[in-house]
Amino acid sequence: MTIYEELGIRPLINASATLTRLGGSLMPPEVVQAMVDASKVFIDLDELQTKVGDKIAELTHNDACYVSSGAAAGIAVAIAACVTGKNLAAIHQLPDTTGLKDEVIVHKSHRNGYDHAVRQVGVKLVEIGYATSTAPWQLEAAINERTAAIIWFQGGMTGHGDIPLAKVIEIADARGVPVIVDAAAQVPPVENLWNYTKLGATAAIFSGGKDLRGPQSSGLVLGKRELIEAMRMNGSPNHSIGRPMKVGKEELCGVLAAVRCYLAMDHEGRLSQTEEIVGGWCGELNQLPGVSAHRSFPNEAGQPMPRAQVHIDAAKAGISRNEVVAALLAGTPAVTVSSGPDESIYLNPMTLEDGEETVVLERLVAILKRS
Ligand SMILES: *Cc1c(COP(=O)(O)O)cnc(C)c1O
Repeated sequence: MTIYEELGIRPLINASATLTRLGGSLMPPEVVQAMVDASKVFIDLDELQTKVGDKIAELTHNDACYVSSGAAAGIAVAIAACVTGKNLAAIHQLPDTTGLKDEVIVHKSHRNGYDHAVRQVGVKLVEIGYATSTAPWQLEAAINERTAAIIWFQGGMTGHGDIPLAKVIEIADARGVPVIVDAAAQVPPVENLWNYTKLGATAAIFSGGKDLRGPQSSGLVLGKRELIEAMRMNGSPNHSIGRPMKVGKEELCGVLAAVRCYLAMDHEGRLSQTEEIVGGWCGELNQLPGVSAHRSFPNEAGQPMPRAQVHIDAAKAGISRNEVVAALLAGTPAVTVSSGPDESIYLNPMTLEDGEETVVLERLVAILKRS
């Protein structure tokens, strides 16, 4: 009996995305093994954080790396480091920012739930621009002696008339302000592990528990050594704002193994496999009345990976989109999918284990035919 059976937790086939609320992603055996190995021996945690960070930095063509307990924690600790540098009194003082740099600039269009990770450090978010357009002069005017950092969120929210990231970096560099890029879900492509920092970002932050398929509670902050060293001081096990965001030896070794696996992966082969799955789904589903399926690209996070978008015309199909989504989740095996605009559902091959693409299609066809 598995632990989930014992607890009465239903397993889900995830055709949605690497969502934390669904468990994020599944670790390959190499990652699990690294965590098991790490779990068996006492070590000096500070030393392990430094050595794992150096190794990941080297593998990803970066100056330095801090392993966090997730991308959101990475944001919090990075912002703390921007505020305090290596000043122990300032580190101890947070989240009280009296007398410290306490402003972080953000595009208004980038505001999203994860900006809590910035605000919890004690700083204020200073918005620039409008919902759909932002100009360089607005950034220039917002920077002052209290500016600790600029946070750039890369994802579905990015690109609505934003100042281009390269321009943001140019303006920030000229004024000595760090630029922190939240790129939590921006792999694939794998090259993004170094693209943002090559562009000049002070740090780029990634989830360890999304497509990297590392431990759920891990994240990578890749960037300039000066910032990473200040992050270590603001992070666990040091008494600091990052102390509750503990990173264990198992996560440290697990995420290193995950990075190695990810770099060694056949990314082109994977892409063509997902294209094949999406093409196969669309071909089958388009034969059903009231159903129209097509390839959707890129996906919700902006990753260059295809999904199938399946529109359901309730009048012709005899069942509504919401009923289909509910029936997929209620069935055995349970399948979870994302809803899209215009009465559609998205089917995402990225989080499926081998063979599950067939199960997803069978379940969907059975529900649509029964109606
Ligand atoms: C997923 C996500 C996060 C949070 O990542 P965790 O590793 O779960 O902490 C932060 N920002 C963005 C844009 C994300 O997509």
